[in-house]
Amino acid sequence: QDLSDALRAKLKSYPDFPKPGINFLDVFSLYADLEGSQILNEVFIRKGRSVIGQIDVVVGLDARGFLMGPIIAREANVPFVPVRKSGKLPGLTVGTAYSLEYGEASVEIQKDAIPEKARVLIVDDLLATGGTLNAAATLISKLGLGITVTECFVLMELAFLKGRDKITSKVSCTLSFD
Ligand code: 5GP
Repeated sequence: QDLSDALRAKLKSYPDFPKPGINFLDVFSLYADLEGSQILNEVFIRKGRSVIGQIDVVVGLDARGFLMGPIIAREANVPFVPVRKSGKLPGLTVGTAYSLEYGEASVEIQKDAIPEKARVLIVDDLLATGGTLNAAATLISKLGLGITVTECFVLMELAFLKGRDKITSKVSCTLSFD
């Protein structure tokens, strides 16, 4: 609780970015603050330790999930695997398209990145409408092989958008905004 209060106090937001009506929460403002960055590290370490033995892979989402995922994965003693915007990953990939507020996006994962029957923790910086996390979960289920998404972890959740209603797995967050 103390850690999330400290983060909340340090987080900078930008009204009307990247579009009018959006209040952008800038996770990098926490990394730019020495104490903020230490607190983030501590939050991710605790998260990783809390899932030891319960997950087999951490999947991080492009791009800010790449800052969090490897720390969580290392503490949980499991590998880290990226989900990237299409066209960025080498080798055989599986992709899925999803709709954004305006237009379409698509994401990919390497086909052999996740072992059979793995229990996956997906991580990202922020849950808004849930479209991004839902697309990642759909992508992972496309791999088959008995792989399951057991949990999604986000640093921040815009709870008033009810994005978690789109997610079928457990969702946890550090900072919730009403
Ligand atoms: P959703 O798909 O849930 O609507 O949006 C979540 C995705 O958009 C995440 O990948 C997140 O990084 C990005 N995003 C949306 N709004 C914000 C915001 O206010 N701050 C940050 N840092 N990312 C955002």
